[in-house]
Amino acid sequence: MPQRAKPLPGEKRSAVQAKAACVCGAVTLEIDVPGVWAWHDHAEASRRAQGCAYATYVGSWKSRFRILAGAECLTRFEDPDRRTTRSFCARCGTPMLYERARSPAIVNIPRALFQSRTGREPRYHMNLAEKADWTWAGEPLVPLKDYPGVMWERPKRKTPASAIDSLFIAED
Ligand SMILES: [Zn+2]
Repeated sequence: MPQRAKPLPGEKRSAVQAKAACVCGAVTLEIDVPGVWAWHDHAEASRRAQGCAYATYVGSWKSRFRILAGAECLTRFEDPDRRTTRSFCARCGTPMLYERARSPAIVNIPRALFQSRTGREPRYHMNLAEKADWTWAGEPLVPLKDYPGVMWERPKRKTPASAIDSLFIAED
């Protein structure tokens, strides 16, 4: 693990930090715990940028955030229309930082990058109007026959005919 960055003179830190790293390990960073908040972002742009159903971020004050290693590996993408900046590791492509002009003092970091607790549970959902209609929202799952480890969501029965088909499948 990389050494903790030396504090600058007069810099205040909390007693506990949470560390985060990209897939290849070139970029590491830390925030002071607790973060400001944690949230799920259902915006289409975040969905694309992270290649997932929705992104879950931990927001940190920039003054309580430090890049420990690999700053030279970070590549920035500025989106002038949305007034956002996304930074990712140029070696492995991991999304690392998401900054929004509307909240200039906060940097958002994907929750999945942290190796420890951040002091905030993700209880907030934003941009739900852009939520993908294929997002799994906890619907009941059942084991898929003959495929160990695969769970699936049974199709909803819409007509009597499809209900009969489902019964046949269940009998296989
Ligand atoms: Zn990387």
